[in-house]
Amino acid sequence: MAETSSPTSPFHPETRLVHDGSFRSSFGETSEALFLTQGHVYASAEECEARFKDELPGYIYARFSNPTVAMFEARMASFEGVEAARATATGMAAVTAALMGQVKAGDHIVSARALFGSCRYVIEEWLPRFGVETTLVDGTDLSAWKKAVRPNTKVFFLETPSNPTLEIIDIRAVADIAHECGAKLTVDNVFATPLLQKPFELGADCVVYSATKHIDGQGRCLGGVILGSEQFINDHIKTPLRQTGPALSPFNAWVLLKGLETLPLRVERQTRSAGSVADILAAHSKIEKLIYCGRKDHPQADIIAKQMKGGSTLIAFNVKGGKDAAFRFLNALKLVRISNNLGDAKSLVTHPATTTHQRFTPEARAEMGITDGLVRLSVGLEHPDDLIADLVQALERA
Ligand SMILES: *Cc1c(COP(=O)(O)O)cnc(C)c1O
Repeated sequence: MAETSSPTSPFHPETRLVHDGSFRSSFGETSEALFLTQGHVYASAEECEARFKDELPGYIYARFSNPTVAMFEARMASFEGVEAARATATGMAAVTAALMGQVKAGDHIVSARALFGSCRYVIEEWLPRFGVETTLVDGTDLSAWKKAVRPNTKVFFLETPSNPTLEIIDIRAVADIAHECGAKLTVDNVFATPLLQKPFELGADCVVYSATKHIDGQGRCLGGVILGSEQFINDHIKTPLRQTGPALSPFNAWVLLKGLETLPLRVERQTRSAGSVADILAAHSKIEKLIYCGRKDHPQADIIAKQMKGGSTLIAFNVKGGKDAAFRFLNALKLVRISNNLGDAKSLVTHPATTTHQRFTPEARAEMGITDGLVRLSVGLEHPDDLIADLVQALERA
């Protein structure tokens, strides 16, 4: 096997997403090979022993590593500009392993409260079961992060833009606060995509993705990835992942590898369409308070200008008239589909209060800005005029 990549690859991001991390087998295949194998054979018992002892390089067992999964990891690490990546079966496996790998009973985590529902469950309910203390703060309030710090604080966690309200957190400022108290910052970068926001350049120590979203981008499979320095991955991630087993399937890794090749084309096009759709919807009389990271009226446009290269593919807005009106709007859509994926080639709408965030109390939802009229729209690859026509006709029926 040859043609591995390095984080210092001289090529542009688009080029790295097509070529980096490719290993060619002796057949010289053009497209990355799918190594659908659970294990590997050894020429001798001595070789097998040496591989298990890490004295010889090579693959052992697909729970630890697999050539197709390794290509996906190498391509992600190269694109992100860090030394190491570990793939997981889902985005939530990545978030859970990244957090659990950094703490033990008695440690403390500070997290922004505006989070994807499952991330909030891990912070609020799952980790405390193992003696990890957690504090949720308003992530936009820098003094709240400082106030929450305790002598045992080990990890800061945030998602920006947040799901679904597109709240923005100043990554650089929060990373500085974390480092001043000896903690490390983990960023869930799903909504921004690896293309539009580079948390490592802003001081993050660990970045996690649900590859299910834009990285696949065509709604086919689940996947996740944890990125960091070689030392971070060795210290916190490598052994727990090997031993607990949330491994990415080689087939899914292969799909995600191919997804990375077209990521810039899709994200750039979907972001451009999202901008056009947001401008039309923001002026519509049935909509109040539309939030889009690419618009000047986003409440945190100044931070967006500092840390994002584009508005991304998601829009959040309130349909006037609460849940009933929002449901009438969703049910009247003909092209845009009701679903819960995002970053997909197909445009999808979600009603967070009754789906992704239905587990929370009305108070917790209100705190996160999730009203009954709130709709999250993930803009896909359709022609924007077709999307706008569908959204506008459905709003007339709301
Ligand atoms: C979807 C999502 C996740 C979880 O990813 P899965 O692949 O569904 O497990 C985590 N964080 C954010 C922000 C997400 O949107």
